[in-house]
Amino acid sequence: MRYIEPHGHMVSRTTDDYRAMAMAGCQAVCEPAFWAGFDRSSAQGFYDYFCQLTQHEPRRASIFGLPHYTWLCINPKESEDLALADEVLAIIPEFMDSPNVLGIGEIGLNKNSRNEMTVLEKHVDLAGSNDQLILVHTPHLEDKRKGTRLILDVLKSDSRIRPERCIIDHVEEHTVGMVLDDGFWAGMTLYPETKCTANRAIDILEVYGNERIWMNSACDWGISVPLAVPQAAQEMKRRGNDAQYIDKVVYQNPIEFMSQSPRFIRPVGL
Ligand SMILES: [Zn+2]
Repeated sequence: MRYIEPHGHMVSRTTDDYRAMAMAGCQAVCEPAFWAGFDRSSAQGFYDYFCQLTQHEPRRASIFGLPHYTWLCINPKESEDLALADEVLAIIPEFMDSPNVLGIGEIGLNKNSRNEMTVLEKHVDLAGSNDQLILVHTPHLEDKRKGTRLILDVLKSDSRIRPERCIIDHVEEHTVGMVLDDGFWAGMTLYPETKCTANRAIDILEVYGNERIWMNSACDWGISVPLAVPQAAQEMKRRGNDAQYIDKVVYQNPIEFMSQSPRFIRPVGL
């Protein structure tokens, strides 16, 4: 099989994980900027992180012939400090022209706070004024629905932002409808037991169809599975989905979305 990993936090993973992904049929890996598991103490910490995302990780992935792409931002968890957020937002443009940068992400909300909203709006402005794609994180708390609504409204209120150029990640049964209805792309993040499991994701596909939607692992420093996407593809096969249907969700759809960036090079495939 062949697939794209649209959301893997590879800085937190081992080189063995890259090898396992390549052997499972991964054709490209995309890495949004995120929270490191601890709060960085200064903008310099983000500068080094952006160097890692744009220089070091592409080299590590290339050992296994894997193209590596990335997204840049300060994540919602560290957005409470508005002065720090402004400093980080100011250094993002110097990395935006790096050959593996697809856009701004993963931005969004965590606690739906006023400061998070302010920083979200600044990121959307940065993306709008630089014609960048957007990748959005939606909150994991019980207010995911409200947070998703707030985010969609921010995106829709900026006339430069086109919904088909934004992917709203971590959708679940109660948020996927509003995302797709408003013309955005939806990402289903697969978790082993809680949140969205492979079987829940497959159920969502059966209800909402397989247009403008993808699956990703979001593997990071926590308990997570870097091979979640090929494992879900196996489960889709077991449940009777044909090869073409599976290929659309795990390979063609991510390519269709990311090809909207001139930096994304369509994989040659197998
Ligand atoms: Zn993430």
